[in-house]
Amino acid sequence: MYVQLPFDELRVDSTQKKRIAYFYDADVGNYAYGAGHPMKPHRIRMAHSLIMNYGLYKKMEIYRAKPATKQEMCQFHTDEYIDFLSRVTPDNLDNFAKEQIKFNVGDDCPVFDGLFEYCGISGGGSMEGAARLNRGKCDIAINYAGGLHHAKKSEASGFCYLNDIVLGIIELLRYHPRVLYIDIDVHHGDGVEEAFYTTDRVMTCSFHKYGEFFPGTGELRDIGVGKGKYHAINVPLRDGIDDATYKSIFEPVISHIIEWYQPSAIVLQCGGDSLSGDRLGCFNLSMSGHANCVNFVKSFNIPMMVVGGGGYTMRNVARTWAFESGLLNNVVLPSELPYNEYFEYYGPDYKLDVRPSNMYNANSPEFLNKILTNIIQNLEHTKHAPSVQMQDVPRDPEDLGDVDEDTAEAKDTRGGSQFARDHETEKPGELYDDDDKDKGEKNITITEAEQMEIDELNQEE
Ligand SMILES: [Zn+2]
Repeated sequence: MYVQLPFDELRVDSTQKKRIAYFYDADVGNYAYGAGHPMKPHRIRMAHSLIMNYGLYKKMEIYRAKPATKQEMCQFHTDEYIDFLSRVTPDNLDNFAKEQIKFNVGDDCPVFDGLFEYCGISGGGSMEGAARLNRGKCDIAINYAGGLHHAKKSEASGFCYLNDIVLGIIELLRYHPRVLYIDIDVHHGDGVEEAFYTTDRVMTCSFHKYGEFFPGTGELRDIGVGKGKYHAINVPLRDGIDDATYKSIFEPVISHIIEWYQPSAIVLQCGGDSLSGDRLGCFNLSMSGHANCVNFVKSFNIPMMVVGGGGYTMRNVARTWAFESGLLNNVVLPSELPYNEYFEYYGPDYKLDVRPSNMYNANSPEFLNKILTNIIQNLEHTKHAPSVQMQDVPRDPEDLGDVDEDTAEAKDTRGGSQFARDHETEKPGELYDDDDKDKGEKNITITEAEQMEIDELNQEE
């Protein structure tokens, strides 16, 4: 089943036009986790500088998002955790001894000046990006200040405090019946997986190093529970994976997911710590190997949000995110770097490239074959239900759901089983009377149950 593909030069169709909304807040580069901390928000400013100096501002719309409010953050996080983030500072830290332990702030996730504003910028970009996609105002939204995939409902983790991705996906779920989340950071996307582990409205798929590596989760056999069973996918990899090998596992997994699950929106986390030579990572992807994932996901022409994530060798993260922004705009940026205010970071070659090393690739074809076979077997359970119909087709009363599902076990916390919900659903046309949030997507295949859940989300406002 696993076939090693050749790694070809990346191609774009320069005649194809995509509407790109790029979110950037110039303040983001000013926040600092503290001396010696590997996470440096400055890399986002470096990437932005390359993006601007390559002239990509002529191709895309650039926005500064409104920072996420406390209320918006609490759509996922607990009130007490967000309240803590909004009040704690390096100066009053001593008054929060108990909370520091409870919310896991300290070493990896230090309290620094402006922490809450930093969270607001990261979250605001992903939420507004999702809202623009929802309204059909763009085809692709980009927020490199986002991608902080380890943050939990009530806890900071792995340099992440606010889970902007979960907030963005919650926003997408107001309009999209099924959202696919793809994570190419070298670390497991645990916070996002956990948030949607019990739902079939979001499929999460994380490619990561597994085995004696942070955060320790993301085994092949972790596949989701309840209604979410088979809707979490984990691709646990070993050290040294190279471009061709990564492509050979990434492309078939993603193709199968899109074919079977039929997502109507995709969120792609582009953590740059899977690049060769990363300060914390252990993979061996070149800039092109990483960017191939972005180009491949884009080729499906599904509304898409691209967020940042990890990445601890700043010059390489900046190079890669700039190159990927080019691809999203259907441009292969030339390798000669334009002059920019951080030019000296890119010596001695001053080129737009991240080259692989000669490190050993511990991912054998047999190992990858086992992973791919297992994932494809599991995916067969997610094939979108044949009872699904287009929204404007009158419904067959015989086809409202599976009575067998209407058991005590099938009941969930969202107001009953699929069967019960199907019978409670209003006419779909009545669900969109909020004019300023017009539906961005036409002809999405959508079940009444999905419609009902979308409606419930919108009522929580
Ligand atoms: Zn990471």
